[in-house]
Amino acid sequence: MARRLQGKVALITGGARGIGAAAARLFSMHGAKVVIADIRSDLGRSVSEQIQLESGHPVSYVQCDVVSDSDMQNAVDTAVSMHGKLDIMYNNAGIAGEKVNPLEKKKVGILSVEREVFRKVFDVNVYGSFLAAKHAARVMVPRKSGTILLTGSVATESYGFATHTYTASKHAVVGLAKSLCVELGEFGIRVNCISPFGVATPMCEESMGLDEKALEEMFTAMGNLKGVVLKPKNVAEVALNLVSDESRYLSGLNLLVDGGFCLKSSA
Ligand code: NAD
Repeated sequence: MARRLQGKVALITGGARGIGAAAARLFSMHGAKVVIADIRSDLGRSVSEQIQLESGHPVSYVQCDVVSDSDMQNAVDTAVSMHGKLDIMYNNAGIAGEKVNPLEKKKVGILSVEREVFRKVFDVNVYGSFLAAKHAARVMVPRKSGTILLTGSVATESYGFATHTYTASKHAVVGLAKSLCVELGEFGIRVNCISPFGVATPMCEESMGLDEKALEEMFTAMGNLKGVVLKPKNVAEVALNLVSDESRYLSGLNLLVDGGFCLKSSA
């Protein structure tokens, strides 16, 4: 197997489960030294150990709430002190916010959005992305090298499916990625955003109250590209492309991993 991240050091936030864990596994299989940063310490540690056993490359876990400046600083500094540098920051940690079961077709209307939920979603999704990028830039700028990948959603290009809170937060993430792309281009640092369509992960199970099978059936019925069920691994494969040197001239992109869903929903 070609090792597309051989010698690279990657920090993945939210890597204890879901898409982040799939990315940690795939990056590690491709030779990267991976550091998983998450708030789920038991899970984070066991996933790290398991991936290291499978890949034979070092995988470690650091407890990190992406909303905490000092936690994020510590996560980046841990990666650098363990491996000498940071090549890849994949800020994948994110939360859904309001709980909604799409099959019940009940929307969280503007009148039911609560301040605390709104604040929490913006804290994790937007401020967390900002802190991840800030501390990655702190160690990447002096080396004039590195790549930062932030996480959006199809909600950045399609409307009426996700909640207002989540949609607004993910738009802010795309704006941040584009703004950072311009500042950090001078230092040879690429900044992109990856925006997946629905994937059956614990986040969706918890926020939508559906199990994996029901989620996959619903997403498949909604999706544009038939005959394919989008899995965490498929998103990780696109992330791998974006952070690898084969994408060395890609920056400022919001890459939809949606099988054409956004085009269909705007038709
Ligand atoms: P998930 O809940 O399965 O995994 C998210 C991980 O982030 C968890 O391990 C969680 O502990 C961690 N996390 C949450 N808050 C954190 C914090 N404050 N600090 C550190 N870690 C934290 O979710 P997922 O579906 O794998 O989502 C990953 C990313 O992809 C999120 O940004 C999400 O918004 C985005 N996304 C998901 C989908 C989908 O359908 N699953 C679609 C589009 C975008």
